[in-house]
Amino acid sequence: MDTAAYLRSHIRTVPDWPAPGVQFRDITPLLQDPKVFRVLIDTFVHRYMDRDKRPDVVAGLDARGFIIGSVVAYELGVGFVPIRKKGKLPFTTVAETYELEYGSATVELHTDAVKPGDRVLLIDDLIATGGTMMAGKKLLEKLGATVTEGAAIVALPELGGVQRLEAAGLPLFTLVSFE
Ligand code: AMP
Repeated sequence: MDTAAYLRSHIRTVPDWPAPGVQFRDITPLLQDPKVFRVLIDTFVHRYMDRDKRPDVVAGLDARGFIIGSVVAYELGVGFVPIRKKGKLPFTTVAETYELEYGSATVELHTDAVKPGDRVLLIDDLIATGGTMMAGKKLLEKLGATVTEGAAIVALPELGGVQRLEAAGLPLFTLVSFE
């Protein structure tokens, strides 16, 4: 079995959660099995160890992006910064609000999280409409950093996020796609 199929076989689909019609792609079984967790992390680390791709900083999106992103940062020997939902970060922040299917959401980043010119790898568990990752990219750019790539375990291309982010000039690296 190739890596994508191996990882895919450990993602659980929960129908109609958290709302009717949503197929929730649950990555917790991937994390729970130490062998699979290692394959997952090693796949990201292998890519970003490469001299041309190595970031200065890894930024993780709230909340599952923290789980993957912090371990990848640790293995790469670079710092990790969290992009959090509104109201969670204690120091001064920059904020970005984006539209959801119903309503809107705001994410925040500490103003000293990155320096102008930093090359940042932005990580989440999944890309659906791309709104969350786009908001993260904008936050990092507000502080003068460059997002060199967006990485996620899962892409849901039918929801348009992959296309939207690539059209905005963000290269993406995802491991498993669900149509
Ligand atoms: P989006 O901003 O639409 O790309 O949504 C991505 C964010 O929402 C990620 O942080 C995911 O954890 C979460 N998410 C959205 N849709 C799903 C889904 N079908 N299954 C699991 N997580 C999802």
